[in-house]
Amino acid sequence: MTLRRTLSRRALLTGSAAAFIASRAWPLSATPRDDPFALGVASGYPGPDRAVLWTRLAPEPLSPDPQRPGGMSPDTVPVDWEVATDPQITQIVRRGTEAADHDFGHSVHVECRGLEPGREYWYHFIAGGAASPIGHLRTAPPPGAPLDRLRFGVVSCANYELGYFSAYRHLTDENPDLVLFLGDYIYEYVSKLPGKVREHSDGVEATDLRTYRNRYAQYRTDPDLRALHQAAPCLAIWDDHEVQNDYANDRSQNFADPLVFLKRRAAAYQAFWEHMPLSAWARPRGPDMTIFCRHDYGALATFLLVDGRQFRSRLACDRPPKGGGKQVTDEACPERLDARRSYLGKAQEAWLYREFGGSAARWNFLVQGQLMAELKERLDDGEISHWTEDWNGYPAARTRLLEQIAGTGLKNPVVLGGDFHSFWANDLKLDFDDPAAPVVASEFVATSVTSNGPPYERFLAWAADNPEVRFFDSRKRGYLSAELRPERLEVACRAVGDVRDPETGVSTLQRFVVENARPGPRPA
Ligand code: FE
Ligand code: CA
Repeated sequence: MTLRRTLSRRALLTGSAAAFIASRAWPLSATPRDDPFALGVASGYPGPDRAVLWTRLAPEPLSPDPQRPGGMSPDTVPVDWEVATDPQITQIVRRGTEAADHDFGHSVHVECRGLEPGREYWYHFIAGGAASPIGHLRTAPPPGAPLDRLRFGVVSCANYELGYFSAYRHLTDENPDLVLFLGDYIYEYVSKLPGKVREHSDGVEATDLRTYRNRYAQYRTDPDLRALHQAAPCLAIWDDHEVQNDYANDRSQNFADPLVFLKRRAAAYQAFWEHMPLSAWARPRGPDMTIFCRHDYGALATFLLVDGRQFRSRLACDRPPKGGGKQVTDEACPERLDARRSYLGKAQEAWLYREFGGSAARWNFLVQGQLMAELKERLDDGEISHWTEDWNGYPAARTRLLEQIAGTGLKNPVVLGGDFHSFWANDLKLDFDDPAAPVVASEFVATSVTSNGPPYERFLAWAADNPEVRFFDSRKRGYLSAELRPERLEVACRAVGDVRDPETGVSTLQRFVVENARPGPRPA
């Protein structure tokens, strides 16, 4: 039986499982008429012996009542879970019960341990006499152990209103070992663009816990997104739209009082926690939440996930009336060049550089949200400007990071990013102005799942000023599909046909290779 067929079936309850379920009465005041597992299941952070298993009970996913998130009454509910070595969940190797806490939207985060390395597992949840869909994951190899091949997808920027999630469906069909969500997993605002294919359900910008929760819940009602989470474990970071467009640390795009904005950030981070398969260490405390971490795949690969939003210095020259990213020249905005400014914040920078120094992996992926290469944007008057809202707004911090990569001799560094709604393949250098400067790291940026791309012709006109850019295309939506082996990384830019067509197909726009010990993407 193929994986997709397995996943599309509801759990078949065998005799023993049915008895196990019957021993638990429906503990909710909600009637069990509606499926409590409407938001599906997910797994994340697969280690050699563990993985995080996720679900959230929400029989009415878009309940407008803040007292009854997901249609659940204010009780904490026990949820049983089972992990098996077969897709029918008959060879059960781990099982337990976890509380679905009302205070966290009845989300469930199971830290399942005692698994074997490099193995496939299937899992499901049971509550109130109902069984969840069956999820699938593969654990990582033991620490330092060889791994012949790792296949992963890279996705970002999925605006529900602007298209169907066919990119997620086609990635699911590739049966990846791992999916990297690089941010803009939801969009907080309501689009004013014409020709939306569907609407954010509440019709308002998400600003509080109820509206952020319902935004995630609506995204998870999408069958293509649910199927992707069911099929493969993930690692996830956020970008700006999980909270607010172009926010930086405690600074909102519209110059709200930082104390007021931090309340909003707390609600947004909590909703992110409630909907992602994150480990307990990520659980938010007020407006603070840790998502940066290292994740290993034996001797083959280390993924260093970083948070580019929570700790960054405020945007350069960010002043009323218009907040958020803008094009600035060095003359108009010397603040951009200030070496004290940080993109990751001091503590996270220090952590990252320690990880660079300590990594023994053959390949090292920096999993972050945005474009890192320098992008000189030539204005109509011929002046060179830079965008203030990605790494180009923090050039000293970028130089520090690349110097650390070079200085520690980090093996095969590859920077992965999103946010830009366009494919990029770049050489990262300490001196972007010197064509002879050595390439320090490779960079790939995934296009958006649905969000509109920047104007192609205008960016193409800047190519001559930016020789480190090996490839750029903003005309397609899709994802990156990566196949990693000890000797080489292959990255395919996968483009979907038409986001307005829920059945649209996929094709490979361009393929790149990075050879071991030779930084820089080359067309395959
Ligand atoms: Fe985006
Ligand atoms: Ca973004």
